Amino acid sequence: MRKLRHSKRVEITLIDRRNFHLFQPLLYQVATGALSAGEIAAPLRAIFRRNRNVRVLLGEVTGFDLTKRRVVLDRLPNGGEPRVLEYDTLIVAGGSSYSYFGHEEWRRLAPDVKSLESALDVRRRILTAFEAAEVELDPARRAAWLTFVVVGAGPTGVELAGQIGEMARDTLRRDFRAIDTRSARILLVEVADRVLTGFPPRSSARAKVALEQLGVDAVLERRVVEIDTESVTLAGPGGEAQIVPARTVIWAAGVVGSTLAAALAGQSGAALDRVGRLPVGPDLTVAGHPEVIALGDMVAVHDEGGRPVPLPGLAPVAMQQGRYAARLIRDRLDGKRTPSFRYRDKGNLATIGRARAVADVKGLQLSGFIAWLTWLFVHLFYLIGLQNRVLVFIRWTFSFATHGRGARLITGAPKRPR
Ligand SMILES: Cc1cc2nc3c(=O)[nH]c(=O)nc-3n(C[C@H](O)[C@H](O)[C@H](O)COP(=O)(O)OP(=O)(O)OC[C@H]3O[C@@H](n4cnc5c(N)ncnc54)[C@H](O)[C@@H]3O)c2cc1C
Repeated sequence: MRKLRHSKRVEITLIDRRNFHLFQPLLYQVATGALSAGEIAAPLRAIFRRNRNVRVLLGEVTGFDLTKRRVVLDRLPNGGEPRVLEYDTLIVAGGSSYSYFGHEEWRRLAPDVKSLESALDVRRRILTAFEAAEVELDPARRAAWLTFVVVGAGPTGVELAGQIGEMARDTLRRDFRAIDTRSARILLVEVADRVLTGFPPRSSARAKVALEQLGVDAVLERRVVEIDTESVTLAGPGGEAQIVPARTVIWAAGVVGSTLAAALAGQSGAALDRVGRLPVGPDLTVAGHPEVIALGDMVAVHDEGGRPVPLPGLAPVAMQQGRYAARLIRDRLDGKRTPSFRYRDKGNLATIGRARAVADVKGLQLSGFIAWLTWLFVHLFYLIGLQNRVLVFIRWTFSFATHGRGARLITGAPKRPR
């Protein structure tokens, strides 16, 4: 949208069920008390305040009528009846959500960090676990409170586990009297045989060492088969089960496309792939509907020959596709042909904790402090809003110097069973 906002030839209606843009790559820092919620979110109305051709609507898209070129908008803030909006060109970028592999009941027991609310819930659970351990007299129960299980060793799982390790080893070390927070166990469970499978094996090995230095135990080739309020059950490749008493479980495994992908598939007759993504052509349009563009995490791009183009579920892919969609619309207005979408891979980054990160930039594999600095500046650069950039920079500088974390608040109603 930002690429079209200065164009006088287009009228844009931006619909979102949230009134803010959320910078998901830093959500895990909210979940671990390093940043506050407002520092990684920017109100949509503020972003487009000067662009008279952009109208922002708060509401949830619940359906489409591609034949009549209509979008159904529900859950309006005034509680009113659903509204129907008409369009010339429709762009859908509904993102993705975490998949619990058919165990929806685990969602309540092992929250993810996909939204601000869930990140704050995770923060509350992590901090409450340390508080609970402090007052727990039974050693076994205390150990369970001090055991944290993160499921999924992709970038989000690795970053989360590293941050919890850093909290336990460093930030909270002097804050408690009855417990030694450094005795906390942090298990990072992964079904593959290495962490960060999207990175080259050498970066995975380096990340594993950095995690170990923070007290994180990477439990590889293990699958979660059961979660309850007091434990997690893991199964090995041969099916052998291991019960781990743990009171805090965080989910960071496997994503599925937004329900909007299914809604568009139902209308266009397209078949979703096995992770719920909508197939789109090389120009990101939906089959049979050149006026409907879909992009980001919820789509699987196909080339001119109909073969799927493997693209990672990362922000640069979604952003480049957004820019491509803007170009496609401008070119159509100019009567020009737009070449197919091509992803420019600028590299992959993951941070593991203070001054530790791995980076894979065009074949160059970095790790340690240099990779961490790269990670820092890339994330600051892409954060929306000058105010947030300045605030986050100050917060990080301060945290680096003091080993502190400014947002260690337990907020929200406790949901723990007695
Ligand atoms: C915790 C976490 C960490 C990540 N870290 C990184 C990282 O370090 N680097 C990286 O490159 N990528 C990272 N990613 C991935 C990256 O954030 C996504 O690839 C990117 O945000 C996808 O963009 P998108 O526009 O497809 O979807 P999203 O950014 O998810 O946006 C979807 C939008 O659609 C809205 N929406 C959805 N459904 C509806 C509806 N029915 N009605 C109205 N509005 C709706 C949502 O409110 C949301 O604003 C991370 C993701 C997560 C969750």
